[in-house]
Amino acid sequence: MIYKDFQDFKLSALGMGAMRLPVIDGDDSRIDEAATEQMVAYAMEHGINYYDTAWGYHNGNSELVMGKALSAYPRDSFYLATKFPGYDLSNMDKVGEIFEKQLEKCQVDYFDFYLFHNVCEMNIDAYLDEKHGIYEYLTEQKKNGRIRHLGFSAHGSYEVMKRFLDAYGDAMEFCQIQLNYLDWTFQNAKAKMKLLKEHHIPVWVMEPLRGGRLATVSEEHTKRLEQLRPEEGTPAWAFRFLQSLPEVTMVLSGMSDFEQLQENIRTWETFWPLNVTEMDTLLGIAQDMVKKIALPCTACRYCTSHCPKGLNIPALLELYNEHCFTGGGFIAPMALSAVPEDKQPSACIGCKSCEKVCPQQIKISGAMADFTARLNG
Ligand code: SF4
Ligand code: SF4
Repeated sequence: MIYKDFQDFKLSALGMGAMRLPVIDGDDSRIDEAATEQMVAYAMEHGINYYDTAWGYHNGNSELVMGKALSAYPRDSFYLATKFPGYDLSNMDKVGEIFEKQLEKCQVDYFDFYLFHNVCEMNIDAYLDEKHGIYEYLTEQKKNGRIRHLGFSAHGSYEVMKRFLDAYGDAMEFCQIQLNYLDWTFQNAKAKMKLLKEHHIPVWVMEPLRGGRLATVSEEHTKRLEQLRPEEGTPAWAFRFLQSLPEVTMVLSGMSDFEQLQENIRTWETFWPLNVTEMDTLLGIAQDMVKKIALPCTACRYCTSHCPKGLNIPALLELYNEHCFTGGGFIAPMALSAVPEDKQPSACIGCKSCEKVCPQQIKISGAMADFTARLNG
């Protein structure tokens, strides 16, 4: 296992994410405890010392099951991370109550890493609102040793991250973002990483395989990768990409079966970053993948002044691209929950004024209608 220095810790560069644990009968809330314990045992034996759970994973059961599995090991043999569930605004006034419950669920008396979970458009105002006392409470827990390192995870835009960092950046020791070779430009991950670097905050990576989507690529892309590294499987390329970024300290992979865990560990036994040609090829493949699905909006904003409904068309198209590419998911609905009703895709009246000026000839009205239909299921 490769290790990375983080302050006084030596962290395994690969962490075990507990958001996609094996489940029984396809029911997300029924974690297969025996299989999870077997996976934790294998991970511990093979040098993984970082375990990442959260209040909401597996309907609240991930913390319970991980706490139980890890209780078989000395407390100083693993690092445990969990998060304050600010993705649900009804939790904002319950930070103390939730934190105490999390310690109990995880069977520990301190967390090595604790995060503001999922800073995004929907909750940034609440996270920054002092009346909830979240920052104050968590920094207090850090002072009294019940949190060893404080950070945040972000699914929001660059601008949202910047607002959070402007307010709390000095106290943040790490940040978890969605980073992989596809989101490098597609979700602006490169710029987000640079922003974190400016704040001297190391990067924790989530979704290194984009929820499994990068575990396989098209036949043509596979051939191009095999020509460069015949001995490397497709998922390994996603990890080698991350090994090539010195800003990245931790890569979390949500492993849902034993074989996946074994394969990931095998990859992380070797440090084999990409050379320039390999990096160019991989990013070229990412561009091909995005082009096949996404609308080519360049955010030139020519269209916005022509929209009688005042829609933020490029921002909506960016979310539409994300939603289509992922085949649904929570990111677009979450970001749209912060958008007033009269500025939602459903507010489009199909007048096509925008389309007359779009240099990319995007069928914007059709995209808005399709987006509305997709969001309504
Ligand atoms: S088609 Fe929709 S998005 Fe385009 S200008 Fe008309 S209302 Fe705005
Ligand atoms: S004019 Fe076209 S390319 Fe420019 S922001 Fe609007 S939709 Fe995007």
